[in-house]
Amino acid sequence: MIINHEEQRVYVRQSWLGDMMICMERGRLADIKPEFRTGSDATIMGTAVHHGIEQVLTNQISAVDIADAAVFRLGQLMTEEKWKHTNVEPDDMVPYVALMARAWAQDIAPKVPTGGRVEQKFAAPMNRMVQVDVDKAYELWFAGTMDYVAPDGTLWDWKTAARKYSQSEKQKQSIQASVYAYAAVALGYTNWDVTFNFGVLTRNSKSSGSIVPVNRTKAHGDWVAEQATTTVTSALRMGHAIAWPKNDQHNLCSDKWCPWWSICKGSYVSDVEQQWSQEAQ
Ligand code: SF4
Repeated sequence: MIINHEEQRVYVRQSWLGDMMICMERGRLADIKPEFRTGSDATIMGTAVHHGIEQVLTNQISAVDIADAAVFRLGQLMTEEKWKHTNVEPDDMVPYVALMARAWAQDIAPKVPTGGRVEQKFAAPMNRMVQVDVDKAYELWFAGTMDYVAPDGTLWDWKTAARKYSQSEKQKQSIQASVYAYAAVALGYTNWDVTFNFGVLTRNSKSSGSIVPVNRTKAHGDWVAEQATTTVTSALRMGHAIAWPKNDQHNLCSDKWCPWWSICKGSYVSDVEQQWSQEAQ
């Protein structure tokens, strides 16, 4: 959440809204301690594959060269960025990136209409106000970057993931699809109803690409704007100076997957104590 006093606007990204839904303290720490946010092996692999896809979609390289472009970018990220090991074997990083890039070219690219907007940054008004202070109400806006907006208005997002996506889960719960659909309609890229395609590449030795479509109607857009308004209003009321509710009842609350672990649950409970131990009986 970014409060811009000059523009009198509050900007919300879908990732922040997602964080707030699982653990509000994660959302607060993302705002006040962004320097803790480091990449992981999985995230830099995803960034490298995105780079290859972007190069193909902008006609800078041909699809046959996508694996080389992605692996080259991975090498740069491994040396330039701060990132941590999670559950990917270090020796698998390069081959998996090459496999995912090729899987995109083979399984997904033939179904992507060419000539669209690549890595489209956006900021879109929700036509809602939030109270940032007793006498100050600011406009609420969504912000972010869409991976690809096809000429027919279909939205695409590339995902690298350990396993395939569940379409029913994404249709019910994807905040990203709702936020991007809302913004795409608000900015005139498309009209309701919107199709949002996840292009999913599995991160393993048999990587394949699958397209998982979800649909978004105006009702989904209104709902996500309501979620954003109520979440931002609660956050503004609490203020960043005090800690927000700390929810550990989900899999991202761990040393590997929460960047703020060391200053939050990790300052009470070690990663070892997270595991069951016979000796502790
Ligand atoms: S360590 Fe757990 S409780 Fe703390 S911010 Fe991260 S996810 Fe939330």
